[in-house]
Amino acid sequence: MRAPAKSSGSSSRAASILTASAGRALEAPRPVALFDLLAEHEHEQVSAYYDPATGYRGIIAIHSTVLGPALGGTRFWDYPDDTAALIDALRLARGMTYKAAVAGLNLGGGKSVILGNNRTTRREALFRSHGRHVESLNGRYITAEDVGTTTGDMEYIKAETNHVTGLIGKSGDPSPVTAYGVFRGIKACAAHRYGSDSLRGKHVTVQGVGSVGYHLARLLQADGARLTCTDIDPERVRRVVSELGAAAVGTDEIYDVAADIFAPCALGAVINDATIPRLRVEIVAGAANNQLGEDRHGDLLEARHITYAPDYVINGGGLINVNAELHGWAPERARSKAGEIYDTILRVFEIAGEEGIPSYRAADRLAEQRIAVIAKVRRNFV
Ligand code: NAD
Repeated sequence: MRAPAKSSGSSSRAASILTASAGRALEAPRPVALFDLLAEHEHEQVSAYYDPATGYRGIIAIHSTVLGPALGGTRFWDYPDDTAALIDALRLARGMTYKAAVAGLNLGGGKSVILGNNRTTRREALFRSHGRHVESLNGRYITAEDVGTTTGDMEYIKAETNHVTGLIGKSGDPSPVTAYGVFRGIKACAAHRYGSDSLRGKHVTVQGVGSVGYHLARLLQADGARLTCTDIDPERVRRVVSELGAAAVGTDEIYDVAADIFAPCALGAVINDATIPRLRVEIVAGAANNQLGEDRHGDLLEARHITYAPDYVINGGGLINVNAELHGWAPERARSKAGEIYDTILRVFEIAGEEGIPSYRAADRLAEQRIAVIAKVRRNFV
């Protein structure tokens, strides 16, 4: 990957990450080795901006712009301190680089965080401040919704910059495209594991039948799979039982169901020390972000001979949908691009086999290979 680039275009108000408030003496509760943090994963740039007029405190982290502008949502969260906010922004930005790279999109990875109470009703000035912050980066970073923000907030940002997606009335609910990508990814897992991608007669357990899980359950059922579902919301469970003939189990029982495939579509960190020994499936493949409690849980799945579809590869449909909005793609084109997740998952398993590494590491290799090749190509004829 390319070396960290010089910061460009940051606002003249961009403050040091260590500056608690404009003009006051530094009182860092714990030292932040800012450039060490940037160097650790080769982040290109961090911009921090404090606006005393609105109380806006925001950090934008740009991990990589090798493949294109850094895209990633704005998270609005009451972090315990500035360091926690910075580390979250850096971690999430890096994740976006990898997700865009394996999805075959011409986007880099970035993320922003706004520090504060996300239930505030004083949103216009705050999000317009954020919009000005985004605008100061001249298109190196494009933002979107994330935890604690809404499409309405994106409209405030839009008043100050064009570098925002996920606007009201644009690409809309990404979950059908995400679900389609996950479905195609599950079929690729079946092809890899069973030699046929048919799901007829396969028993799939779905954890969380919300936006993505419900659409996924429909696709699986239409392909002949038998379903067992769970959700903390009984209404959502009733819907899949009555519409799709799914069986229902309690939220904790889902890990013990003997089935072929487990599709986590609710929470992160559900693959952990407590759940892995209970799993009685051959494949784990679902929409949820950050399914592995820690990386080593990917190794434990491997040790148990459970085929794992790396989460950020199989759930890339949401990002593909955002990209579709950016480039004005028709819905069919977004769906077709999400369908390519099938081939990407197979390629991940191929790399894993060739290099003798678990699938979650192979996904990182695939992303890094694409970034390295395109970085080289872009050094020609400059
Ligand atoms: P959602 O909120 O619509 O659905 C999640 C469902 O999980 C809800 O029905 C909720 O009641 C249920 N749930 C929560 N805790 C549970 C538990 N302990 N056990 C069982 N069910 C539980 O969210 P979504 O948009 O469907 O997203 C699902 C997951 O996929 C999330 O991890 C999300 O980050 C990820 N994801 C979503 C998209 C997208 O396009 N929406 C894209 C990429 C990744």
